[in-house]
Amino acid sequence: MSVIELDDVVKRYQSGEETIEALKYVDFSAERGEMVTVIGPSGSGKSTMLNMIGLLDNPTEGSIRLDGRDVTDFTEDELTEERRTGIGFVFQDFHLLPMLTATENVELPSMWDTSVDRHDRAVELLRRVGLGDRLEHTPGQLSGGQQQRVAIARSLINEPDILLADEPTGNLDQDTGETILTELTRLKEDENVAIVSVTHDEQMLDYTDSTVRIVDGVIQEVSRE
Ligand code: ADP
Ligand code: ADP
Repeated sequence: MSVIELDDVVKRYQSGEETIEALKYVDFSAERGEMVTVIGPSGSGKSTMLNMIGLLDNPTEGSIRLDGRDVTDFTEDELTEERRTGIGFVFQDFHLLPMLTATENVELPSMWDTSVDRHDRAVELLRRVGLGDRLEHTPGQLSGGQQQRVAIARSLINEPDILLADEPTGNLDQDTGETILTELTRLKEDENVAIVSVTHDEQMLDYTDSTVRIVDGVIQEVSRE
C-alpha cells in the first residue's frame, strides 16, 4: 500500500488579479522502502508538490491520503500532528540549530514524546549515519556532508513513514552529494521509509527507484526502475 498518495490534486494561488495554477490534476504515490524523485525546472511546481506531500498546505482540489487515511480535510492542528509523527524533513541548507550539539539537534523533534529514550535513539541514529564520533560537535564544527547526515538522523527520530527531502544535495559538492544519496538508499530499507526528494539535480536520478518529471504543474513522465 502507498504510504502517501495524491489523487487529482490541483493547487491554485491567487496573486492579485491573477490565478496561478501551480499543480494541474497531479497523481502521485510512494511506498515504504522506495525512493521517489520529483524533478523539474524552476517554477514547475516542485515546491508546491512538496508542500502537498508534506501536509504543509491544503490542495485546492483533489485528495491526499497518508498511510491509507484521507487527510485532505484535516484541520491545521490535525495536520501538524500528522507531520510531527509521520513525516521527517531534510532541507538543502540543513536547518540545524548552531548552539546545539549533533545529539541535541537530533533529539529536538522528539522533545514532546516522553515515552521513548530519545537520547539513546539519537545516539543510535547518529552512529547509523557514521557520526558516532561526532556526537558532541556543534554544526559549525562539522562539514556540509556531516551536517546533512545530522539532519537526516534528526528526520528519522520520530520513526516517520516518509522522509521528505528538498534539494538534499543542493549545497554539497558532487562526491559528498553521492555519499548522502548512498546513505539515503541504505536508510530507506533499514528504516522502512518512503523517501521523496524534490530536486533539479539530475545526479539524484542515479539513486532513485522512481522518477516523476513535472513541467508547468503537469506530470510529464513517471519511470520506475
Ligand atoms: P518550483 O519549486 O518547481 O520552482 P513552485 O512550486 O515554487 O515551483 O511554483 C510553481 C508556480 O506557482 C510558480 O509559477 C510560482 O511562481 C507559483 N507560486 C508558488 N507559490 C506561490 C504562492 N504562495 N503564491 C503565488 N504563486 C505561487
Ligand atoms: P525553492 O524552489 O528554492 O524551494 P521557491 O522559490 O520555489 O523555493 O519557493 C519558496 C517558497 O516561496 C515556496 O514554499 C512558495 O510557497 C513560495 N513562493 C514561491 N513562488 C512564489 C510567488 N510567486 N509568490 C509568493 N510566494 C511564492
